[in-house]
Amino acid sequence: SHSLIVPVHSFPNSSIHSLPMQPVIQIKDLTKTYIMGQTQVRALAGIDLNIDTNEYVALMGPSGSGKSTLMNLLGCLDTPTDGHYELDGKDVSKMEDNELAQIRNEKIGFVFQTFNLLPRQTTLENVALPLVYAGVSRSVREARAREVLESVGLGDRTDHRPNELSGGQRQRVAIARALVNNPAIILADEPTGNLDTKTSIEIMEIFEEIHNNGNTVILVTHEPDIAEHAHRIVRLRDGIVESDVRNEEIRRASDPEHRYKQGLSL
Ligand code: ADP
Ligand code: MG
Repeated sequence: SHSLIVPVHSFPNSSIHSLPMQPVIQIKDLTKTYIMGQTQVRALAGIDLNIDTNEYVALMGPSGSGKSTLMNLLGCLDTPTDGHYELDGKDVSKMEDNELAQIRNEKIGFVFQTFNLLPRQTTLENVALPLVYAGVSRSVREARAREVLESVGLGDRTDHRPNELSGGQRQRVAIARALVNNPAIILADEPTGNLDTKTSIEIMEIFEEIHNNGNTVILVTHEPDIAEHAHRIVRLRDGIVESDVRNEEIRRASDPEHRYKQGLSL
């Protein structure tokens, strides 16, 4: 299979450059209220969350609990109503749209459930798009897009349009697009929600490889099987963090021998 390992020196935004001791994501009292006419929806009611570089986090919780709202804030696609968000040492909670767009382009790769590819553009053009915004020359853009497409197993689909690809292939294009800038953080909001089980497993293998490659990965999922792959599970309920556990702790807590050693009752 192809490797996702890319030369970091050619793209300056690698997580390698962030300080190892400081969480790459620091969130304090984050709130988001949507205003729709007369009604207000409090989607996030005060989130505290720190995430370290190279963590692999599954974000879970019932529908409407605020997962997508939090992901959009994490990904600098939207701004909070109140609270503090520091991304890689920069306070992004009060940034203007243009500044936010720049940070997003440098540091974030976002993967959506519905792929969000441009239908009239080829696979190569879709993947190269973030590099257009970053002002990278055409030849470098295309070479880089090709390299990333090869790494997700789509080196032979560069000239196809999205409607000529399967769901799993479209999601791989979207992942390649998210990776093309070599961002520190990959965010994925229910990336396998529209895919069958077999394809979901293939997509999850790619996320695992991205994580092994040094990236911070945060993904929303409803599937316990998928969350199993993560090292930490954060659960939201009604816009707050209901629980936040490392996967080892979950395994240990359900391991009878360990419970015995800890003196816990079964
Ligand atoms: P989840 O992804 O966990 O299903 P969301 O973050 O999408 O939850 O939604 C949280 C709450 O915010 C829900 O009550 C939802 O209806 C509301 N909401 C989400 N997006 C918007 C929006 N753009 N405008 C108004 N309300 C929204
Ligand atoms: Mg959602």
